[in-house]
Amino acid sequence: MTTFDVERSPIPLLDLAEINRAVSAEIDLAWRDIRGHGRYVGGVEIELFESAFADFCGVEGAVGVANGTDALELVLLGLGIGPGDEVIVPGNTFIATVEAVCAVGAVPIFVDVLEDTLLIDPDAVASEVTPRTAAVMAVHLYGRMADMDRLLAVTGRHGLALIEDAAQAHGARWTGRRAGGSGHAAGFSFYPGKNLGALGDGGAVTSNDRELLGRIRRIADHGRSSTDRHRHDLRGRNSRLDTLQAAVLSIKLPHLDGQNSHRRAVMAEYRAALPPHVVPVADDPRSESVHHLAVVRARDREGAIRALEEAGIGWGIHYPVPCHLQPAFAEFTRAALPVTEAAAGRILSLPMSPTMTIAQVRRVASVLTGGRR
Ligand SMILES: *Cc1c(COP(=O)(O)O)cnc(C)c1O
Repeated sequence: MTTFDVERSPIPLLDLAEINRAVSAEIDLAWRDIRGHGRYVGGVEIELFESAFADFCGVEGAVGVANGTDALELVLLGLGIGPGDEVIVPGNTFIATVEAVCAVGAVPIFVDVLEDTLLIDPDAVASEVTPRTAAVMAVHLYGRMADMDRLLAVTGRHGLALIEDAAQAHGARWTGRRAGGSGHAAGFSFYPGKNLGALGDGGAVTSNDRELLGRIRRIADHGRSSTDRHRHDLRGRNSRLDTLQAAVLSIKLPHLDGQNSHRRAVMAEYRAALPPHVVPVADDPRSESVHHLAVVRARDREGAIRALEEAGIGWGIHYPVPCHLQPAFAEFTRAALPVTEAAAGRILSLPMSPTMTIAQVRRVASVLTGGRR
């Protein structure tokens, strides 16, 4: 490729096919094996992935489920949270955090985020606790972990469950401890675009509470008793991790730490090269981010988007309409969330991927500086 090509070729927000190319031969072999042995649901592939993922997260156990939204819903069900309960959620999150709360019949209580990190504000959480509060959703958005010290202090003081929404934070750390092991339980997503992504939907619950994990496993498998598959002790459902996807995830997991550190190098280059009017959202120094997304605040977002479009560079907004302003949740909207709402008008996601080169990062920064297109 000539220098000219490097400078002109499009830069996607995220190129999933490119990321998965490196492991495609291994996936072919694993899938051929599963096709041949015929155990298409459950099986050793699930057990191997669950135990590898639990080790990765530094937790007692993991349960594979159908997707990340189910993972959060199953955590709530497993904890016995439902109608009459309130669950505190940040306004700045993906819609699924709130969907899970509504799905179990609990009421989402929206709180604002911190100005610098755009993560859930622990003081706002403390001020919304009522006798009906059952849990707090610590959403580790964009790859950075929420302030687990202060959230644990608040939830501990009031006897609440602290649930991590770790769908964007596989491998992130808070003062050394991985996402998924600091609260009562965590929900992960393996949607293809996540840091650890399947070739389809997938999810997992992690926890240090084996009894809770056992209950969640049974709820996700039709409420079956663990000893008699025709006895249903719990009212359950079907939310199992697919065997083909578990095999993919086991193949990809050993590459995750390396990919996450590449993402950190990409982010460091963005910080060094972006112009002063395009400012990356801050990382709390106690959190080691895995940079699921490269989110910046742009003074002139429309202008920045125009420049990226002209240069063939991908972009996104995560998320343009905060959850508390979504029509679906109108009945739960009580107060304005000024930080969340102001941020929604300025945030912009730049290309971020474990296959992105430093030259590509420089080109994005230069386009945003108003240089070469
Ligand atoms: C992706 C995501 C989810 C839901 O995951 P799915 O697997 O798509 O259901 C939940 N919370 C957050 C913050 C997410 O980014």
